[in-house]
Amino acid sequence: MDITVNRGSKTPLYIQIKKQIEGMIDTGKLPPNFILPAERVLSEKLHVNRSTVIKAYMELKAEGLAESRVGSGTVVLAPMSKDAAQEKMYIPPLRWNQLESKRIAKADEQTINNILSVFEREKVISFASGISSEDTYELEKLKIIQNELLEKYREKVFMPTPVDGCSELKNTIKAYLQQKGINAGLKQIMVTSGSQQAVEFFARLLIEPGDVVLVEEPTYIGAIQAFESYDARLIGIPMDEEGIRLDILETCLVKYRPKFIYTQPNFHNPTGMTMSFNRRKELLKLAYYYNIPILEDNPYGELCYEGEQLPALKSLDNNDYVIYVSSFSKTISFSLRVGYVVAGENIINRFIKFKQITDIQTSTLSQYLVHEFVSQGHMRPHIEKIKEKYKKKRDLMIAELGNHKIEGMKVFIPRGGYFIWLSLPNNIRMSELIKSLGDAGVIVMPGDVFYPKFSIENNFIRLNFSYPKEQDIIDGTYKLLECIEKCLKNVVKAKYTVETVINPYL
Ligand code: PMP
Repeated sequence: MDITVNRGSKTPLYIQIKKQIEGMIDTGKLPPNFILPAERVLSEKLHVNRSTVIKAYMELKAEGLAESRVGSGTVVLAPMSKDAAQEKMYIPPLRWNQLESKRIAKADEQTINNILSVFEREKVISFASGISSEDTYELEKLKIIQNELLEKYREKVFMPTPVDGCSELKNTIKAYLQQKGINAGLKQIMVTSGSQQAVEFFARLLIEPGDVVLVEEPTYIGAIQAFESYDARLIGIPMDEEGIRLDILETCLVKYRPKFIYTQPNFHNPTGMTMSFNRRKELLKLAYYYNIPILEDNPYGELCYEGEQLPALKSLDNNDYVIYVSSFSKTISFSLRVGYVVAGENIINRFIKFKQITDIQTSTLSQYLVHEFVSQGHMRPHIEKIKEKYKKKRDLMIAELGNHKIEGMKVFIPRGGYFIWLSLPNNIRMSELIKSLGDAGVIVMPGDVFYPKFSIENNFIRLNFSYPKEQDIIDGTYKLLECIEKCLKNVVKAKYTVETVINPYL
């Protein structure tokens, strides 16, 4: 056995020895059952410490290349298959949390997933979702359309579409937007996988770590997560009954020079509020004056139950300051994942690149289904039908909430959309209420998830009325009020035992 050591090398001596023996085993020079020289003998021969040879042999043993046998010493083993070698070797677990990028490690919020997974469970009354109820799906019409699709478009339904959407759907969206006073060319429209994707693309396009984004406070959790995942600093602007407060907004425009403003002028998620016409015009003026783009998110705009439907900011904007996103999730179906964005051609071109990286295209089948549903004229009557249903449910929930008079509780009544915003008495403990509701089988969204980080804890909850059945609205609201009253009683009982925790604002 011919081994040499190089004392000038940076490789430790024991590794040099181990590698040479390993090489000889690999090439067959040292056959199975070959007895390696005793540690003392080899150390003397190589003029190295005995512990160096012991270490080299230990490495060979750890890798399954040799073993100690009583009476023989260290013996070469028959070469193992890679799988068997791996079985013998200690494979440390991968430390995924250390490998994750810092940006992603921050975005570990799972609220939306947690809400959606509830639908797989039974016997829970959910006021927490943001989806339409089962009885609003136009099953019969969609069934006919789906069959027609295969006749009419044949293989095309299974073929790719351009990244920015199939021309049929884009033309349909263009005509649909025209009715709302939004005049966009085909190159300014892009189909996305839900409007969530467009919100994320906008964040990806503009946000550098530390950039300030101004949002209504509270605001849509999916937008908060998208912006924070790019390390934006979110500043929440409070709202009044006309929408985002422009006095505070202007102060923040001057102070922070934000990258953009994110707003939902219609039937805002979570508060249900609608921005007045005047406020819309003034907001645009501010954006022009301070040169700041606006991301207008309008998924609920069609669901207006009373009063007039106000024009989109995009329809009032002749200067390409407004990027408009909307979707068919709240009207036709959430799971088809068809949304769209209207923006300048330069922005759409960037988004096309993002979409190529993200999911290449929105499902062809979904795109044609939506295109046919809208272009065959089903959309208008469908919207009228669901508006009637949702208005009835909204009114039912409001009436039920009024059944117990709870001091300090305020119901914010929306003119449209999916949500009622409920302000609870100040002294209620939100964590206790959520737990008690969970025990009673009712889930709601606690208000604080809709606030950008570092906001104060608050006493709001968001109640969805579009999804639950009417009887569930009655039963769930009753349980909700019962739980609120129970928690209030506990507060009174605990009044003299409560510890005061002072959270300094740093
Ligand atoms: N914006 C707002 C305000 C929403 O409430 C939602 C869904 N809850 C979305 C965007 C995303 O909807 P989608 O991706 O289904 O179009």
